[in-house]
Amino acid sequence: MHQNKYVFITLLLICAIILSCSCEDKKVTADGLIDKYSNETITSGQNYADIADWLTPEEQYSYRTTDNSDNIADIYNPIFFVKSDRIYYETRIDNLMSFSYIALKTGESFSLCPDPLCDHTPEGGCKYLSLHQMMFSKESDDVFYSVKTTLDEELKAPVSSICRIDAKKGTINEIFNGYLSEINILRMLTLRLTDNNRLYFTAIREKSSKVTDGIIEREYEETLMSVNLTTYEVSIVDNKYKNKEHGEYFFTDGKYIYFIDAIVGRLFATDMNFENETTVLEYGNEYTISSFYYDADTSETYICVHSRYMMGWSETEIEDGNIYCIDKNLNYSKLDMPSDKILEFQLTNEYIYYTVYDPVFYGETPYGVPCMRANGNKIYRIQRGDTAEGELVFDGREKLHFRDYMVTGDFLYINYVKLFEDQGFKVFRITGLTARVDMENDAVKWFNLNNGSGT
Ligand SMILES: [Zn+2]
Repeated sequence: MHQNKYVFITLLLICAIILSCSCEDKKVTADGLIDKYSNETITSGQNYADIADWLTPEEQYSYRTTDNSDNIADIYNPIFFVKSDRIYYETRIDNLMSFSYIALKTGESFSLCPDPLCDHTPEGGCKYLSLHQMMFSKESDDVFYSVKTTLDEELKAPVSSICRIDAKKGTINEIFNGYLSEINILRMLTLRLTDNNRLYFTAIREKSSKVTDGIIEREYEETLMSVNLTTYEVSIVDNKYKNKEHGEYFFTDGKYIYFIDAIVGRLFATDMNFENETTVLEYGNEYTISSFYYDADTSETYICVHSRYMMGWSETEIEDGNIYCIDKNLNYSKLDMPSDKILEFQLTNEYIYYTVYDPVFYGETPYGVPCMRANGNKIYRIQRGDTAEGELVFDGREKLHFRDYMVTGDFLYINYVKLFEDQGFKVFRITGLTARVDMENDAVKWFNLNNGSGT
């Protein structure tokens, strides 16, 4: 999903540029709307009951677990993380990224910052602001690594560091400050994988600089780095895979490192020494991988491969999407699913939750692309052991639109997005509201996760 979002944003920008060349008047309106709808977030004044009036409001918070899927890892930068009776999620405090969590036993939500007197502002010295990306430690469900990006006043440029956060102890420590040397600063850090007490990450670093006619020319390159999780010593990984030229490294099962070559459309793996490259699946450049799960109990990897066309990213009319299971020896098999237009899925021990290409069009966005929901606003599931027959578990009825979802036990968490109509344009906006749907009892509970309080 994450990779796809970047592709999508790029496409939106390209479309916006094309639009700006063709029609001046429309551009002024569209630009205004893009500004308007990118800066605003709804956090209050929403009448929750109207959004999903076919579901019963949950009067009393109910807690039950039926499917403990701790053995399953969502590799594609998930939005929610279920760890030891908590759901962690990214949140915004005054437009700065941070993290919060819901205590599953009580339904209360909390900011990750443990200081009850902290006002969670940069002025107040809150340490939990400007954080993005969560990579949980293999040693503890309470410990994760994150990137902190702030603006350096002197450099007039963003600088990033890597932090180790212990959510139960309430501690945050910087383990790498982003500086290779006093003048060589790494930028755009992305956490990739942990193995053998090392955390691997990619970054942009300065390759060379020269002065021509008084102007400094700098050349940058992406590089693969690792930090020792005991000594915090940082080193450059120098091999064929040190930059993205040969594909993007992002996951290891402890036996193989998996790479995606998005340009040609190929999933491949190397051993843990970045050697002995093996192609796992070649799917071609009209397709993309949308979901990526690893089940530690069965040593299986599950991925969804679907045509770019179904998300509006290609003109080539291919409607095709399937789930593949890859065993521990890198052999793959296609799951026999009720649909061959799968868009993405979520793996649990008992079920596979999935969405299907069933587009609903609402109009045109200010970005100049169709305003649509590719998944028809519906979620299905099948038994993992018997994938022949699907069951509809959620229908948003063109009212309860969602961006992402996550299932734990009987409960489906969805990020509500709201459809706006403005001067002939249609646009979906993130609201910060999350609905918890009790699939057993057709009940709903709303969380306003941006202000850290349940509603
Ligand atoms: Zn704080």
